Amino acid sequence: MSGVNEIRAGFLNFFAKNGHEIVPSSPLVPRNDPTLMFTNAGMVQFKNVFTGLEKRPYQRATTSQKCVRAGGKHNDLDNVGYTARHHTFFEMLGNFSFGNYFKDRAIELAWTLITKDFALPKDRLLVTVYAEDDEAFGLWKKIAGLPESRIVRIGTSDNFWQMGDTGPCGPCSEIFFDHGDKVPGGPPGSPDEDGDRFIEIWNLVFMQFDQIAPGNRNPLPHPSIDTGMGLERIAAVLQGKHDNYDIDLFVALIRAISDLTGADPHGVQKASLRVIADHLRASSFLIADGVLPSNEGRGYVLRRIMRRAMRHAQLLGAKDPLMHRLVWALVREMGQAYPELVRAEALIEETLKLEETRFRKTLDRGLAILDEKSASLHKGDMFDGETAFTLYDTYGFPLDLTQDALRNRGIGVDLASFTDAMERQKAKARASWAGSGDTAAEKIWFPLREELGATEFLGYDTEIAEGVA
Ligand code: ATP
Ligand code: MG
Ligand code: MG
Ligand code: MG
Repeated sequence: MSGVNEIRAGFLNFFAKNGHEIVPSSPLVPRNDPTLMFTNAGMVQFKNVFTGLEKRPYQRATTSQKCVRAGGKHNDLDNVGYTARHHTFFEMLGNFSFGNYFKDRAIELAWTLITKDFALPKDRLLVTVYAEDDEAFGLWKKIAGLPESRIVRIGTSDNFWQMGDTGPCGPCSEIFFDHGDKVPGGPPGSPDEDGDRFIEIWNLVFMQFDQIAPGNRNPLPHPSIDTGMGLERIAAVLQGKHDNYDIDLFVALIRAISDLTGADPHGVQKASLRVIADHLRASSFLIADGVLPSNEGRGYVLRRIMRRAMRHAQLLGAKDPLMHRLVWALVREMGQAYPELVRAEALIEETLKLEETRFRKTLDRGLAILDEKSASLHKGDMFDGETAFTLYDTYGFPLDLTQDALRNRGIGVDLASFTDAMERQKAKARASWAGSGDTAAEKIWFPLREELGATEFLGYDTEIAEGVA
């Protein structure tokens, strides 16, 4: 059995052998791209190469790219723990052609890698093409010898790849692995395609356009290739597992968590273990790339991820901060491939420990309120938005943490009254200050409070409050 580290190396070496330059992953915070929250695909660092703005000394590249999909156009946060295939942080393996080869060679390389080098059985593979893309349809027939029944035409945005609202994009062709009829779910394009039986492992994007504004796209100077294969998903297939969380890397992380908490990896606490393992990776890699928890922008996404994990640690009965005691296990599994993790180890531990120590001061009481106020609710009911706001404002519960906590029971949160409470709170705070005549407070306190959020201010960060007020 190949471990994740060998599979990553196997992919990169295959493309190096076929004339591709091995390029390191770019950071999770995209350089010079304010339109993008986090790097969410391998092509992000090559955006300007595709459009011709930037030249590189090579025309073919291959990478294993760190990705986070927990905000912006691609957001998988709510899938984590509920599907077998989604993470907030994952590695995307890719090969790229900058005006060099196009569709036929891309399909040929992909097919050779998965059926020869990785030796996947052909009868478990199925591909999709963009509805109008007769060329791709014909190439899959010719090169892979796939029967027409296993080349599915899809007319939706699923087969037209876009990084964000602007940037290079194009029709794509996705390769699916059939995990067999023991797993519920239908093939792509069928009504139950969201199941986990047919799992998308690889997306080949035929880069042809540059989206410059909504509804307005230009052809790229040279048609190019951008592909993305989820390392954790191909590892699951190669290790004979259906579920990403059963691959060697996650088994090791989950073991470290259950060693500290006593939770049974196969018992009722399975989902919590998975969420913690996933969020540990996302948090650690984000911190290593310079993101720190805060109440806005990227920092708030990080805080939400961290606090969700911390609630699950609480559910597992951890009495003291837990997350920082797991970092060594992650470094052991991934530090060799990502030395920045080793360099930032102490910073990651400190950041996780501080955040968890702070959050624990309000977490217990907040959870007690959540339990009490939802005790009489049933599946399909709505949780009161006012209370969700109090949990947010006074107890530091990001809205999605509350939603996540209620989701298992089929209970939603009343968003209209949540927003209402938020607006009222803002207006009230401003009104009471307006009468005070305290201009320093107007100038300093409000912006700071808005930036830090009420939780920081009222909940526990009294040094800041006292320092300013
Ligand atoms: P899905 O439909 O399963 O959500 P996607 O179509 O959004 O995947 P792409 O944008 O095509 O994914 O990304 C390329 C590849 O990256 C996918 O084929 C998959 O192998 C992997 N991938 C995408 N999102 C995730 C995720 N959240 N966790 C793990 N791997 C992912
Ligand atoms: Mg997706
Ligand atoms: Mg897809
Ligand atoms: Mg896809």
